Amino acid sequence: MGQITVLDQNMVNMIAAGEVIERPASVVKELIENSIDAGVTKITVSIEDGGRKLISVADNGCGMDAEDLAAAFEPHTTSKIKTTKDLRGISTLGFRGEALASIAAVAQVRAVSRTKAEAGANCVEIDCGNKSNVSPCGGGYGTTIQVRDLFYKLPARRKFLKTTNTEMGHIIEHFTRFALANCDLDMTLIHNDRELYRLSGRQDLRQRIAELFSSEIAENSVETRSNERGLDIFALLGKPCISRTNNKFQYVFLNGRFIRDKFISHAIKEAYRGCLEPDRFPIVFLFIQMPYEDIDVNVHPTKIEVRFYNANLVHSQVLGCLREKLLGMDLDINAKLPASTIPLTERQGSSEGGYRNQKIADAMAEFFKKHRPIQTQQQFARERQGSGYEAGHRTRETGYERPQFDRNFLQIHDSFIVAQVDDGFIIVDQHALHERIIYENLCRRIRESKLESQKLLIPESFEVTVSQADVLETNAELIEKLGIELAPFGPKTMAIQAFPTLLAKAAPLDFIQDLIDLLSRKDAGLDAERLLDEVLNMASCKAAIKAGQKLSDNEMEQLLADRQIVERASRCPHGRPTTIKFSISDLQKQFKRT
Ligand code: ADP
Ligand code: MG
Repeated sequence: MGQITVLDQNMVNMIAAGEVIERPASVVKELIENSIDAGVTKITVSIEDGGRKLISVADNGCGMDAEDLAAAFEPHTTSKIKTTKDLRGISTLGFRGEALASIAAVAQVRAVSRTKAEAGANCVEIDCGNKSNVSPCGGGYGTTIQVRDLFYKLPARRKFLKTTNTEMGHIIEHFTRFALANCDLDMTLIHNDRELYRLSGRQDLRQRIAELFSSEIAENSVETRSNERGLDIFALLGKPCISRTNNKFQYVFLNGRFIRDKFISHAIKEAYRGCLEPDRFPIVFLFIQMPYEDIDVNVHPTKIEVRFYNANLVHSQVLGCLREKLLGMDLDINAKLPASTIPLTERQGSSEGGYRNQKIADAMAEFFKKHRPIQTQQQFARERQGSGYEAGHRTRETGYERPQFDRNFLQIHDSFIVAQVDDGFIIVDQHALHERIIYENLCRRIRESKLESQKLLIPESFEVTVSQADVLETNAELIEKLGIELAPFGPKTMAIQAFPTLLAKAAPLDFIQDLIDLLSRKDAGLDAERLLDEVLNMASCKAAIKAGQKLSDNEMEQLLADRQIVERASRCPHGRPTTIKFSISDLQKQFKRT
């Protein structure tokens, strides 16, 4: 006697439900998807007990007639595709015909629906797969589906549900994704009779972001768009100052569907490279529209992953669109001066940024207290006379000589430059900025040809192990491009014959040692381009003026002038800020002048 039997349909549905319905939030997701596919303008989601007790989604969409209402909860029933041809080019959120059957297999469901053509609504109830007959009932246009006691016949599944707060967190996350992708819909989310969100369909994306997240995020995001090669891209890019420690705040939508995609995540990361510290993640809202035929959405049960037929194109277009905007942007960090009425201790916990800014503001105040302006001016005057500058002009009121105050920068603690700009003043980290300047120069030169080099008067020799010699040999081309000339100098010894002019400030031996270390780092697995980038990063760090180094006026002037022309001057190549800006309007507020 054989052991194999065919499972009954209820069992099949319950098992299938495991794929799609993991927790209350999955139900919410599937129901909202259906509502959006039904052409709604309004969706109301009501939850009780984190979805354990009740999930209800009401819409004003096209509705279902009695026949469809009976069919909708059967497995593999859908109105969205008919033939295999339709599988190429899916424009609806759903198409698998599984969701309602899966939900109804693991909970108590009641659905009420009414189409425009019908005189009244109809209703059907399903209790873990046992369906009632469809019967007429009261109700307006559209569909309301109520899901009660999810997994009540599956204690094992129910046990895996987390706390109400956690489950609610997942529900809010799904609600948020739909709300971002559908700004034209009225959307409400209620939990235990408390309204969490009531979003109006007349909002634009920024307003929606302000309501769903915060106005800080909405205000600190910049728009970019591009439409090339069949890809329409629109994005709101969070400025580096609102970056996060994880990538949860990267919302990517493809044709209105929230997706996670490693190509796109990578493109975002690359776009922000050098604009952010390596362990920070940008906030990004990215909307891509492309022909439905160019993607396969049928690769994942919850459709969160898709397959691009031309992933490289998507990667390069996203990267290009984002990068262009970020490069052209003024990313100086705006110092937020604290609201002076709140004592410092109360504010400390509120945000790390606020605390840091307070410290900067305090340090500035301290500094200006010590360096009274008049002293500074006298000192400038002395310096100028000494260096052959025009001494100044005679002011009418006082009649004595006063220096003309046209030098608008000074160095503090041999590390930072404070400079006046049109609408306030900036504090520049001299090392970070110089690093960026050198880095951009290196990149430009190396893209054009190779770095110019200078013969060393006395070649500097160093010892190498066999594997180090090997590393140098394998990377001979890169080393040549860098403008470094090496020659064997006896057994196990090499000599540096020539060294790049741009790196004049770096010590050749020290540099080579670090270069060898970098090149032999096996784990990195870097491609040629990234490797070069790492090398240039290291080179610029070594060749840049250091913190603690006194600068001449000319050097500072040069640095500030270069800052104007160099790309991405706001961040050092490692992504740390080079400049913090204080606006005059903030200062006026602080000094109660406004
Ligand atoms: P799918 O969305 O993949 O088609 P579902 O099981 O989610 O499968 O839904 C089955 C069918 O029920 C849908 O194809 C649609 O015709 C109908 N339906 C479900 N929800 C709604 C709704 N809110 N309004 C109108 N029709 C709906
Ligand atoms: Mg569906």
